[in-house]
Amino acid sequence: MPEGTEDYIKRMSDALRSGARMLSETCPVCSSPLFSLSGELWCLKCNRRVVRVREETEATAATAPYILSSLNNTLTAKIEELNILLQREVDPEKIHKLTQTLDSLLRVLRESRRLEAESRKQEQ
Ligand SMILES: [Zn+2]
Repeated sequence: MPEGTEDYIKRMSDALRSGARMLSETCPVCSSPLFSLSGELWCLKCNRRVVRVREETEATAATAPYILSSLNNTLTAKIEELNILLQREVDPEKIHKLTQTLDSLLRVLRESRRLEAESRKQEQ
């Protein structure tokens, strides 16, 4: 797992919780899915605002399903790791922390899968 992935997932989860929407458009810098936060586009990986450029948006739209699919794999791998930790854990506080993290991951995974399906549909 690359460094910063957990922070990134946490930011995504927090954003979704506060009503942000994950978009099938991607960041021109890091190719992560962008989020719509109170009318602004944000890359939560770079943790900065992104200004929409029409041509670029159209060019990156085609790569969105692959990026989302890669994100889904990352999230699934992380969920598997946490599941193993959870099976072994007996400390109630740690169990609480693990289940909270799982909740965040599942939230982001659900949104990312929805978008992947959506952007694949648009491709056809
Ligand atoms: Zn970015």
